[in-house]
Amino acid sequence: MGFCLWCSQAFQPQIGFRSFFSIDVHTGFCPICYKQLQPIDERECCRVCGRDLRLLDSRYVEGSVCRDCSRWEESEWQGLLTKNRSLYVYNDFLKEVVKAFKFQGDVALVHGFKTDVLQMYKKHFRNAAIVPVPLSFERLAERGFNQSEHIASLLDQPVYHGLIRAIHENKQSKKGRKERITHRENPFTANQKLKERLEGQSVLLIDDIYTTGATIRMAAQALLSFKPKEISALTLARGA
Ligand SMILES: [Zn+2]
Ligand SMILES: [Zn+2]
Repeated sequence: MGFCLWCSQAFQPQIGFRSFFSIDVHTGFCPICYKQLQPIDERECCRVCGRDLRLLDSRYVEGSVCRDCSRWEESEWQGLLTKNRSLYVYNDFLKEVVKAFKFQGDVALVHGFKTDVLQMYKKHFRNAAIVPVPLSFERLAERGFNQSEHIASLLDQPVYHGLIRAIHENKQSKKGRKERITHRENPFTANQKLKERLEGQSVLLIDDIYTTGATIRMAAQALLSFKPKEISALTLARGA
C-alpha cells in the first residue's frame, strides 16, 4: 500500500510487467492522478523537439518536424540540439503538479515521474553524460533547490554540473519569441573544471519544461567548447 504523492489517497501500487526482474512500480501517483498525465506518443511527436504533432494544426507541421523546429533548423542554431524528448504534454494537471514542485517546494512530487523518466532515459539516452540545466544563483537562493537536479537524480547515474548560469535574466515573458531569442545574452557558460570528463561525450541536458527551446539551445551552445558528440535533452513537459 502506498500513498499518492498528489492526492494523499492510499492505493495499491501497480506493478509493471517488467517488475519481476526490475523495479518498475508506479509508487508515486495513484492510478487516478497518474491518468491525468498526458504522455506524448513518440510515434506521433516532432522528431526534434518531441512535441505531440497531433495537437498542432497541420499548417504548423512540416513532415515529421514542427514549424518551430524547422525555423530553428534553418537558423544558425541548426543541428545544435539532436533532439528533446518530453514525457508529457504540459496540461492543466501537470501545471498544478509543477507549480507545487517548483514554486511551493514540494520536491517529493518528483518521484511520481521516476518510472517514466528512467524508461525514457534507457530508451533514448543511455550512456549520455547527464547535465542538469542550472538556475541562476539568485533564483537558486530564492527557491532553495534546482528542479532540474531533482529530475536528474531520478536516473541514478552520475550527474555532471557541466554548466554555470552566470546571468540572472529578467522575466521576459512579455516579449515575443523572436525578441527573446535574438536579444538575449547566453546566460550559460561551460564549467571548465569538467572539461576532461565531458569532452567528446554525448550530453543529455535535463530540464523541467521545454517551451520555445531557447533555454536548451543556449545551454547546448555553451557546451560546444567540450566538442560533444551530440547534445540532447530530456524534459518532463513539452509546453505549448
Ligand atoms: Zn492521487
Ligand atoms: Zn518541434
